[in-house]
Amino acid sequence: LKGAQQRLRELLDGSARAVAFTGAGISTECGIPDFRSPGGLWTQNKPIPFDVFVAHKAARNEAWRRKFAMEEAFAGARPGRGHRALARLLGRGRLAGVITQNIDGLHQASGVPDDALVELHGNGTYATCLDCGTRYELAWVKARFDAAGGVAPDCPACDGPVKAATISFGQAMPEREMARADALTKASDLFIVIGSSLVVFPAAGFPLKARQKGARLIILNREPTEFDDMADLVVRDEIGAVLASFADDG
Ligand code: NAD
Ligand code: ZN
Repeated sequence: LKGAQQRLRELLDGSARAVAFTGAGISTECGIPDFRSPGGLWTQNKPIPFDVFVAHKAARNEAWRRKFAMEEAFAGARPGRGHRALARLLGRGRLAGVITQNIDGLHQASGVPDDALVELHGNGTYATCLDCGTRYELAWVKARFDAAGGVAPDCPACDGPVKAATISFGQAMPEREMARADALTKASDLFIVIGSSLVVFPAAGFPLKARQKGARLIILNREPTEFDDMADLVVRDEIGAVLASFADDG
């Protein structure tokens, strides 16, 4: 670990526009399970594809039932050592930005400002109407869901389906966030992947794009990824422990 830490430090010191790209692995020490590790969310429930959510009321009821169960389980989650380290690096001007696949809101909670954060897969802390875009708070959805005995509410303004503001499989990526991630990636000279299995596209295309543009690539992940071969540095270790050292010095 010592040698890898040293190399990480050198690469960061030699970079002017470093970008962190995070996945579910940065939040596991906060008690939020990732998708693909044993016992992860993926193995418990098959995700509901977007077209199924839109087409079937029963799917929307099930999606919201799961959502509220998760809310209950993870309501107390606080930013971990990895989140705090990235927030400090940003504050010191050592990072140009954070691109995340996570929907848990923990980067914001750690103090990363909105203009330095790209949430590729949306944000699970509120909901929107898929037809008219009106925003609804989770408490509003839950009150109606509970009052109707587990039936998801439709939009009072237009009758459209109300969905958590996250991107489901099969749903179009948010254009503005994709464009911002693209710009950050193309301008980066160091791209640091943290806690992602790099199997969900198009998100997983960003490390590749950074590499093609000449950026150095670091992959910090407990398990191997498909992209390890093209990385300048692979650190196969615990995210919190590795990044904590950067929060204290440098
Ligand atoms: P993933 O589950 O596919 O991969 C997570 C990776 O992190 C795994 O390879 C695992 O080995 C590694 N990891 C887990 N804990 C670690 C730790 N403490 N130290 C080092 N490595 C660790 O996650 P993904 O690539 O982000 O893709 C999953 C998709 O599901 C994302 O698109 C995301 O939108 C969504 N998701 C989000 C959350 C969240 O918001 N916290 C949680 C689960 C899933
Ligand atoms: Zn509406």
